[in-house]
Amino acid sequence: MSGVSFNRNRVKLKKLLGIRARLALLAVILVAPLMLERARSLEDTRARQIAQASDEFSNLARHSADAQREVISSVETILKSAAYIRASAGGIARSCDMMRASLPANLPWIRTLLIVGGNGRVQCSTTNALVGLDLSDRAYMKKARETRDFVLSDFLFAKPTNSPIVMAAYPVSAINDEADSVILAAVSLDWMSKILGNLSGRPGVTAALIDSTGTIMAAPGDQASMIGRSLDNVPLLSAIADKALSSDAPNGSIAFSAADGFKRALSFIRIPGTDSRLIVSIDEAKVTAAINREIRTAYLQLCFVCLFVLLGALIAAEKLVINPIEVMTGMARRFGEGDSSARVARSRLPSEFMPLARAFNAMAAQLSQRERELVATNDRLTVMASIDMLSGLANRRGFQSRLDFEWMKAQQYNSELSLLMIDVDHFKLYNDTYGHPEGDTCLTRLGETLAGIAADTMGFAGRYGGEEFCLLLPNTGPLKALEVGETVRAAILGLAMPHVTSNHQIVTVSVGVAVTLPNESQRPGDLIEAADAALYAAKHRGRNTVVEHGFAKLVDEAGLAMAG
Ligand code: GH3
Ligand code: MG
Ligand code: MG
Repeated sequence: MSGVSFNRNRVKLKKLLGIRARLALLAVILVAPLMLERARSLEDTRARQIAQASDEFSNLARHSADAQREVISSVETILKSAAYIRASAGGIARSCDMMRASLPANLPWIRTLLIVGGNGRVQCSTTNALVGLDLSDRAYMKKARETRDFVLSDFLFAKPTNSPIVMAAYPVSAINDEADSVILAAVSLDWMSKILGNLSGRPGVTAALIDSTGTIMAAPGDQASMIGRSLDNVPLLSAIADKALSSDAPNGSIAFSAADGFKRALSFIRIPGTDSRLIVSIDEAKVTAAINREIRTAYLQLCFVCLFVLLGALIAAEKLVINPIEVMTGMARRFGEGDSSARVARSRLPSEFMPLARAFNAMAAQLSQRERELVATNDRLTVMASIDMLSGLANRRGFQSRLDFEWMKAQQYNSELSLLMIDVDHFKLYNDTYGHPEGDTCLTRLGETLAGIAADTMGFAGRYGGEEFCLLLPNTGPLKALEVGETVRAAILGLAMPHVTSNHQIVTVSVGVAVTLPNESQRPGDLIEAADAALYAAKHRGRNTVVEHGFAKLVDEAGLAMAG
């Protein structure tokens, strides 16, 4: 049972895997590795691009922090030198002049230098408007006095420019214990905004500089509206800020899923000397949108390539394999249906099919030749099968078919048809007397004589069997038929072949004549029977005689009695 179902499955599989399907499969097998390789390289590119973007942004954050570090150390140097001047120059007016003169032009981020007196009021400033301003309650002032060291404030907004600044403080007491002045510098953070500006206009990238309380101090140009706002009020950034601020590390990267469901990568870096951080958040989906689009296009291209390859394979299969097979099959079918002239036109076939076409054409030529020979042999056999070799006349079979033909013709032309049945008298005795071979010779001579009469009378002579002959006379009425019968009887008599055991001393024949006008109600066999009956009558009338048996008319009473 299982063997049967296995075989059935194999047949089904073979049907499914026709030449077209097999070639398509082959094309797919050839194209698949290329496709897979291309897909893999595209996926690699996607991963590389994300990593690259991530690296680029963390480098940017680090670069910003390094710039800030440089700024701060330069500010610290300036403040320290100003403190020395204040400690050693004596009067505030002199110190002030020296300090103003010492402010280098190549440090544009130091916006203002100030000297604050022991009472917390500004005594000297590079910006005159600030002189007299009370800064005693500022946290950075208190902290500088307490720690007697360099202090940086949180980020502040400089009101006139609405740009972020940071205050740097250095107490003169760090140099001279008795001094109570503090040197201050307002440091501009414009450079920070400029660096952040590099990040503006990049989809999926959010960058911000936040202070220790989570207030946005700087942002790229396209996100400038965020400046001054608390991160808590900026939907996506609040989560980012939480993560950045809760980390103690100077810098780091965090990957997480934001509230909007998108995957985000966050890089943050702490600005040295402060609790502020620069954060850059990357929305992977948005950053990779372009490459995703590219990948989609590439996949689409791959699909088209595959489709074209498949189509090409199918067209090639159709033209190079299926069509030639169909041409050969058509020729074989035509040949099988009997068109022996069917040959494959080799010019229409690819060279691989030439040997097959040649073999087919050779086979077809050989079969045609053999068929021609068979037909010829068959014709010869047919002729031989209807001829009696002894008499040279048609045999019974040949006579029968000629009778059928003449019967049909007579019926068609409504003409009379006559039949003579001729039997040798006392032939048994002839054989007994002269021997069988002599009997044969006698029959041969009779055949020759009858052939001559047939030729003269437009008749058809045959050997009906044994020593019985027949002569068919188309288009012949009773009178003419009787006349020919008489001719036959006389011709045989005229041969004067000795037959000592017969009454006549020579070979004689009896002739039965039948004539009819063939019609639907009669059959050829009826004409034979009638002629036979007439022959029977002739025998009874003493032999060597001619008797007619018309279907309606009979020759005489004796004939009627015996033939009827
Ligand atoms: P009937 O006058 O009544 O016809 O007498 P018959 O002797 O001719 O008739 P029968 O039918 O008694 O004998 C026919 C003989 O013809 C018998 C047979 O030996 C002979 N015969 C038939 N065919 C051949 C043949 O081919 N060659 C020879 N030599 N004799 C044949
Ligand atoms: Mg006989
Ligand atoms: Mg006889």
